[in-house]
Parts: sequence; C-alpha cells; structure tokens
Amino acid sequence: MREPRENRIGGQLAARGLAPNKRFGQNFLTDEGILDQIIDAAELSPEDTVLEIGPGTGVLTRRIAEQARRLVAVEIDRGLAGMLQEEFSGDPRISVINADILKTDLREVFADVTSGSVKVIANLPYYITTPILLALLPQTELFSRFVVMMQREVADRMQAGPGNKDYGALSLIVQYYALPRIVTLVPPSAFYPQPEVTSAVLLLERPDRPPVSVEDPERMFALIRAAFGKRRKTLVNAVTGAPQLGIDADRLKQALADCGLAGNVRGETLTLADYAALTAHLT
Ligand code: SAM
Repeated sequence: MREPRENRIGGQLAARGLAPNKRFGQNFLTDEGILDQIIDAAELSPEDTVLEIGPGTGVLTRRIAEQARRLVAVEIDRGLAGMLQEEFSGDPRISVINADILKTDLREVFADVTSGSVKVIANLPYYITTPILLALLPQTELFSRFVVMMQREVADRMQAGPGNKDYGALSLIVQYYALPRIVTLVPPSAFYPQPEVTSAVLLLERPDRPPVSVEDPERMFALIRAAFGKRRKTLVNAVTGAPQLGIDADRLKQALADCGLAGNVRGETLTLADYAALTAHLT
C-alpha cells in the first residue's frame, strides 16, 4: 500500500533535519486531485515558461517540469531550495533560486523571455499573498496567467464585485490587471501540516485588452483606496478627507456630476469603469 503523502513529506523533511516552518507559511499540498486541478487550470504547453513561487518540497515543481519548456522556482527556505537544487541539478530547463520572491528582480530573471508570456503557478505563502500579487500583476510585460492557491477569504475579496460585502480596493486593483475566477475551494485536510483556514485556487487571466483605459493607474488606485478607506462615508467625504490626494469637494462633486453619478454615492457602489471615468475627470 502507498504511504500517505503527508508521512512521505514529513519523512523527506526529517531525513534532511528539516521540519515545516510556520514563519515561512509552509503548508505543503498533499492532495493529488488539487494538484491536478492547479496544473489543468494553468493550461501548460511545451512552449511555456513558468515561475513557481515557494516550491517547498517540489510537489508542484515536478508536475510543472513534466510539461513546461522552462521553469524558475524561487524558494526562501535554504534547506528546501537546496533539496530541489540537488534533485533538478541534471535538468538545465529548471532553475531553483534560493531567494525572497519580494526581493527578486524578475525582469532580470526572465530577461530572455518573449513579452508577456510567463505563467505563474504557486501554492502561495499566505502571510504575503497580497504583496506578492500586487507586485507581479502590474508586470504585464512578463506575466500572462496566474494559478495561485491562497486563503479563501483573500480569493473572495479579489473576485468580488459591487454589492458584495467582500468588494473593496483589492478587488478593483486586481480586476484592473486580470480576470479572477475561483477554480476550487480547498479544505485544510489537503495540506500537511493543516492550516486553520479554507483555501482556494484562484485563476487570474489577463484580458486581451485592459478592461478600462486609464492614463495613470496609480492615481486611480489612490482614489479607490481613499474611497474604501472610509467605506461607510460618501465618496465625497471619504476622498476629501484624504489630503494627500489634493482633491477638494467642489471638484469631486463636479466630476461625479460629469460622470452621471449622484453627489452622495458611496465608493463601494462604484464599478471599475466609474473609477476610471472619475480619474479622467479629476486629472
Ligand atoms: N509549493 C509547496 C507545496 O505546494 O507543497 C509549498 C507551498 S507553502 C504554502 C509556501 C512556500 O513558500 C514554502 O515552501 C515557503 O518556504 C515559501 N516561501 C515563503 N515565503 C517566501 C518568500 N518570501 N519567497 C519565496 N518563497 C517563500
């Protein structure tokens, strides 16, 4: 009989004097069915270049390596990175870099790839899911598709639209760059050790064209962040209370009227298209 995968992972780590490290968000995936769903959602072809974030003990890495042309895996844990570097040392298509993904110059790593063609596949470390995606999503010249496991609550926020309690600045920023869709929910029992929360695999696909046209996305995001910073207030009160934006109430009311929006709207009712239009009228 096959040994349960959690025992194998525990044994593999122990043989190297390693143990799951909570500080690095190490919850290793043990469920084969979920691995299949992640790989299917990535729609890998033999032409693909892939970035894997946090390969851990390599369960996803091996599956990606079977199908992709090239794979770069970035792992912060020196012991785990060393284990995978040994395993893949004979395969020039696979590079395992021992580094913090947030401090890695990915433009340099992928200097040789064709524009916008790298796929990102990861069972992300949950403590930095949002910073990682907010750093990678704007790099449209590099990344085309993301299949990423995260805490369900964060996936819900990324996918939410107006009228949903989870709708917020994160939803709008993510949806400016990509179309999110939850592929599957994942129970704690799919991991070793088990996390305390339910997880979700989120697919983020780049649309052919950006959903809205904005000259300065950062300015739109600043407006969105101010609007949701005080989500119970009207947009006018929330935004004019954020002095760093330098938008006074009269100007904002005029912009709302120009966009056909009521003067007392709350930010949480507006769509990405509304925010894009408002930003254009305020520039
Ligand atoms: N991919 C493996 C799996 O599915 O079993 C491990 C996933 S585990 C949730 C997250 C992985 O990310 C761990 O291996 C952890 O060491 C690594 N990690 C945590 N912080 C990181 C960072 N800042 N940069 C790169 N890797 C990181």
